[in-house]
Amino acid sequence: RPLSLTRLVNQAVDEHRAAAEARHLSVVTELDRHLPVHGDPMRLRQVLDNLLSNAIKYTPDGGTVTVTAGCDGESTGNGACRKGDGRKGDGRKGDGRKGDGRKGTVVLTVADTGIGIPAEQYPRLFDRFFRASTAVDSGIKGTGLGLAITKSIVEAHGGGIVAAPREGGGTVFTVRLPVDPSAPH
Ligand code: ATP
Ligand code: MG
Repeated sequence: RPLSLTRLVNQAVDEHRAAAEARHLSVVTELDRHLPVHGDPMRLRQVLDNLLSNAIKYTPDGGTVTVTAGCDGESTGNGACRKGDGRKGDGRKGDGRKGDGRKGTVVLTVADTGIGIPAEQYPRLFDRFFRASTAVDSGIKGTGLGLAITKSIVEAHGGGIVAAPREGGGTVFTVRLPVDPSAPH
């Protein structure tokens, strides 16, 4: 049975709202209504919790955390993430996956206006125990395990995760997950 990523994101954001408010951070969501993914809801919640807790932790008071979730490629009228019909065999644009052009991709982003990560440190970000100098220099505590765990969960679900600098400062994490293959259009 497909899970709703939209529902998981809303639940996760609700649980982090108090922590964000305590830091005077705004949390903004832009979510498509129906994003069916496949997998373990507890593990996917862990992904969301890790990314949200990082965004809150590494963003100075008064900043903004923006969470988006949508469909890469075609969306149906009701916002669902559509599988192509597979008849054209044209490898629809934006699909980003080799081989099966019938499966769409759900894209989740968590962006913040926080302290950021030095450019040369991005390659090590998902390594166990790695902590960026911006975090260490800010005196913010952590063990450096959250992102390594997050990446392994995302990959176990057939997806991927990348980090990049946010335009205007801060960081954006992008998670891609395959659309549940059993989900109706
Ligand atoms: P924990 O294991 O408790 O989550 P942590 O937050 O230090 O500790 P990770 O979540 O794995 O560990 O993150 C690794 C490092 O990546 C952090 O120490 C920090 O330097 C950097 N980082 C992660 N998320 C962000 C972010 N949103 N903004 C800036 N730096 C970040
Ligand atoms: Mg963390």
